Parts: sequence; structure tokens; C-alpha cells
Amino acid sequence: MACVSFPYDAPVSQTLFDRASLVTPGGVNSPVRAFRAVGGTPRFMVSGTGPYLTDADGREYVDLVCSWGPMILGHSHPEVIAAVQEAVARGTSFGTPGEGEVALAEEIVARIEPVEQVRLVSSGTEATMSAIRLARGFTGRAKVVKFAGCYHGHVDALLAAAGSGVATFGLPDTPGVTGAQAGDTIVLPYNDLEAVRTAFAAHPGEIACVITEASPGNMGVVPPLDGFNAGLKEICAADGALYISDEVMTGFRTSKAGWFGVDGVRPDLMTFGKVMGGGFPAAAFGGRADVMAHLAPVGPVYQAGTLSGNPVATAAGLAQLRLLDDAAYAKVDAVSAEIRALVSEAFTKEGVAHTVSAASNMFSVFFTDQPVRNYEDAKKQEAFRFTAFFHSMLAQGVYLPPSAFESWFVSTTHDTQAVERIAAALPAAARAAWEATA
Ligand code: PLP
Repeated sequence: MACVSFPYDAPVSQTLFDRASLVTPGGVNSPVRAFRAVGGTPRFMVSGTGPYLTDADGREYVDLVCSWGPMILGHSHPEVIAAVQEAVARGTSFGTPGEGEVALAEEIVARIEPVEQVRLVSSGTEATMSAIRLARGFTGRAKVVKFAGCYHGHVDALLAAAGSGVATFGLPDTPGVTGAQAGDTIVLPYNDLEAVRTAFAAHPGEIACVITEASPGNMGVVPPLDGFNAGLKEICAADGALYISDEVMTGFRTSKAGWFGVDGVRPDLMTFGKVMGGGFPAAAFGGRADVMAHLAPVGPVYQAGTLSGNPVATAAGLAQLRLLDDAAYAKVDAVSAEIRALVSEAFTKEGVAHTVSAASNMFSVFFTDQPVRNYEDAKKQEAFRFTAFFHSMLAQGVYLPPSAFESWFVSTTHDTQAVERIAAALPAAARAAWEATA
């Protein structure tokens, strides 16, 4: 790690972290939150309003993580909170069907044309795990193609060369996943259609599906090259494999219809999470009706969940989706472009080699001026500069993802005042990045 000093200015967070570390591995419930990639004390947040988070020490931050994507309307949106309060007052879980889940499924189907039927689950991991099982059940085949640097949650079969926390820690794999569980997973370089063609030629009729992030955000933001997703679809269709687009991150964020709304390539199955839960655990997978008909109770592929379609989570998700109209996306896109320009300007002024990579309103910075088209390219960046940059921004009240390999997220509430705070912090942070040494 780069040599960075951490101003010890979060004593309450540190005390909470010490307490947490006694009862929870690493003191956190999801690894990247522990700040291991950047060092220092993870900030324990106590509240959020609009684009701001307040930590346990009473410091306010402009939030550029937005809960890793879900909070596209900002924190504590009054209409989402009202929908949640109204739902909670009626009870928190029934274990029966309810109207809220029908309405949420209808909203998803109405927005995303290739989704004819959808099943609600509680996390993105569950969505991708279930979609893979369904693809295997539908095709009667075992093998799965995924791309290095793409993260699809902590599904055993997909924890091979995954991005996100796995990229952050540089783990090539994880103990606990057996050869049998990952043995049918073929990992290929991202944005390389030739590699996909070669894999299909080597395993004709054996590949159940290709799963890809619709536009990856877990190795930093690395959009698909023109024609890549269309090429995947074509190769899958020719072999009888399914094309699964993982839109857990991009879904309902990169446009009203997610990344499908951007590139128009029709997947056989899709997965969703994050934004569709409005800050609650709600996720989904869906797609072709003939494929979805293989799911229990109509078909033989088993899939279930005690809290699937939870009434509070579906109320939050539905309220959020209904507020996400064209004007909301225009706002998020505009503020994203504004922040990207400011970031690039600050690094350019200091002579820091960088690339601000964007996919619609998702973006991240790579500390390199070379093109980044896949995970290998992403890993070549001078990530040590991010550590210095991150801590300078944090000390100045801007909360970035604590890793150089994660997307930054903005919301409709990132207004002029929030952008001005970011702009004010950037010059010193860019200078810190320039001064950083490996
Ligand atoms: N798929 C993608 C593209 C993701 O970014 C993530 C999480 O970041 C997941 C799946 C897993 O979702 P969850 O963390 O809700 O299990």
C-alpha cells in the first residue's frame, strides 16, 4: 500500500470498529467496507439525507457511493420513506403473495422489454445464482462462461476471477469454492469476442450460458466495446446457449431500462438488484417466458425464498422506480458529466496520468492514460495514487468508494452545492495523488 498518513479524526468510528472487530470478521458485513485497500478507519454512518452522509463523529460527507448504487434518488427520499412507513404499518412479512410484489414485477416488465416474466429475490447474488441454475436446467448443459473482472455476487461457480471485493484484494480465487463448484466455469478476458468463439468451438453444445455484466462496474467502469454484447448474443444463439445480462448494477440506473435501454441487445435472461430495492434487500431475475416457465412451481427448476417479494422492500423499490422518470435520469446523467469533467480537470492540472471511464452516469478513474478494455488493463493502473486521493477527499468531506476498482455513483440530489464541495476538494486531492509513491 502507498505511504499515506491518516489523520486520526474519527474516534467514534474507530471505537465502533474496534467493537465490531470483536464480534464480526474484520468488523464488517461486506469486505470492501473495511477500508483494507486504502487503510484507515472505516466511517460508521448514522444518517443520510439527499447527497450527504453523516458519520458517528458528526462529520458530513458528499456521498459518491450511494450505497454502491441503490440510492439514485439520494438518501431518505421523502416519497420512498413515506411508502416504507405506510407498508411497515401494515406488517413486515406475511409469507404469502401480496399486491406490492405484483406491482413491482409489472413495473419491471413494463420498463424492460425482454423481461416477459420475473421472479423476485432478496439479493443480487441470489438473482445471478438462480439465473445460472435456470440456464443449466433449461439447456441441460453444465458449463458457464464468465469474464475476468466481472462480479456477479458471491455465487460459488462465479467466484473465479471476479471483480469488486475480489479485485480489491487481488484474490485469484477463494478457499471454500471446490474444484467441482468452479470446474464448469470458463473464465475469459472481457471485450474479447475471439476468446468467446474459441471457447464455444472447444465445447460445442456444452455451454449453458454466458453471463456478463451488462456494462461492467466491478473492475472500475469498463464499458463493452461496440458490438461486444451483440456478438455474445449471436454466439450464444448459434450454439443454443443462453445470454444472461447481469444488470444488478446497471439496471434502472444507466437508463429507465438499464443498459438494455442503452445498447438494445436482447438477453435471454437478466438479473437486477440495487436500484429496484430502493435501499432494501430486493432483487430479481427474469427474461424469456419459455425459459422462466422452467421454474418451480410450473417447472422443475427449484428456487424459493422466505422473504422474496417482502412487502416493505417491494414498497420501497416500487416507490423509487415510479419516481425515476426521464427527467430524473437526465439529472443524474448531467451531474455525473459535471463531476467527471471536474475530476479530469484537477488531475490534468497536476499532470496525473488518468482516464475517467464512464458508462452512462456510472464512472470511475483509472490512474493510467492507456485504454482500459478489460481486467488486465485495469490492474495495470497506478492504484497507489488512488489511496492518497481517496484519503484527501475523505478528509475534505467527500466519500468515495474505498477501492480503485469500484464505480462511483451519483443521485438526483447531487445539486450545485454538493458539486461545489467536490470541486473544492479536488485540487488538494489531485496534488496528493501526484505526490503519492508506490
Ligand atoms: N451482480 C453485479 C453486477 C453486482 O455489482 C453485484 C454487487 O455489487 C452483484 C451481482 C451481487 O449483488 P448483491 O451484493 O446484492 O448480492
